[in-house]
Amino acid sequence: MRPTGRLHVGHLVGALGNWVPLQERYDCFYFVADWHALTSDFADTSQVTSYTYDNVADWIGAGLDPEKSTFFVQSLVPEHAELYLLLSMVVPVPWLERVPTYREQQENLKDKDLSSIGFLGYPLLQTADVAIYDARFVPVGEDQVAHLELAREVVRRFNNFFGDVLVEPQPLLTTFARLPGLDGDKKMSKSVGNTIHLSDTPDEVKKKVMSMYTDPKRVRADIPGTVEGNPVFVYHDAFNPDTLEVENLKARYRAGKVGDVEVKTKLANALNARLDPIRERRTALLANPGRLREILFDGSARARRVAAETLARVREAMKISYR
Ligand code: ADP
Repeated sequence: MRPTGRLHVGHLVGALGNWVPLQERYDCFYFVADWHALTSDFADTSQVTSYTYDNVADWIGAGLDPEKSTFFVQSLVPEHAELYLLLSMVVPVPWLERVPTYREQQENLKDKDLSSIGFLGYPLLQTADVAIYDARFVPVGEDQVAHLELAREVVRRFNNFFGDVLVEPQPLLTTFARLPGLDGDKKMSKSVGNTIHLSDTPDEVKKKVMSMYTDPKRVRADIPGTVEGNPVFVYHDAFNPDTLEVENLKARYRAGKVGDVEVKTKLANALNARLDPIRERRTALLANPGRLREILFDGSARARRVAAETLARVREAMKISYR
């Protein structure tokens, strides 16, 4: 994850929540992609390190466990940059220009200067991020599949030249679709500001839920409303474990027999119940910055040992290994 802002409940359902169970089955590596944060936000880097610590406190709050998985910071493992450089020698520029998000983001984020080599190259840096750990799987949502496809092509091309050196990563597709924003926008996103942060207080959560977008055609509580695609119900499905309550609310909403206040109050309660233990763990950690720092430095040292081994193999295969 890129340390470009505070984490929100979209990250919980779309990423963190999927990552937690993986820890029992795989040797997982989770990293804060601080260099990737620079690809779009190089003009203001003042918050990168503080978001790094803040985001990792959220990871642990959400149930990722540094005893089970390796947590690290990308820039504390500079081997990523060397592998990126070596890979860049064999990768044609049009491969990167063809990545769908390249043009898309240039068009969508008009306020940012995305003409840098860094931005063009970021899917290749992602390839290095993955290949340097011989990763067999990468947990990704649909939106990242094209990047992983590029990673696989790059690995195949590299291996064609230099032998069977790098592992081709496979996607481990996560199931949850995108969580819409509070404003009904199709994606909750830190760049839009339509988010509920994992670190919001119970009151802030309640206030945000009460202001949520619902069915715009339903101007009074006794008018039948639409449940499908209605963000309030998408959130109920995602966060309210009481399925009976959710079904009951949906039925009454469709029949025009429930007010928004009740639907939203119940949602705020469900969300706060889900966020309470996350907030608790997060607060405890942030009260002990030494521990947080130790987690990241120890994890980065561990990651670095693995990365250094891969890189030694790569240099050997490329015949640029000096002794
Ligand atoms: P970046 O840090 O590259 O800007 P994001 O913060 O948008 O990326 O997303 C980081 C991860 O969280 C990605 O795996 C993404 O799919 C997931 N994610 C972000 N927002 C949402 C959302 N609204 N719903 C579901 N998953 C999301």
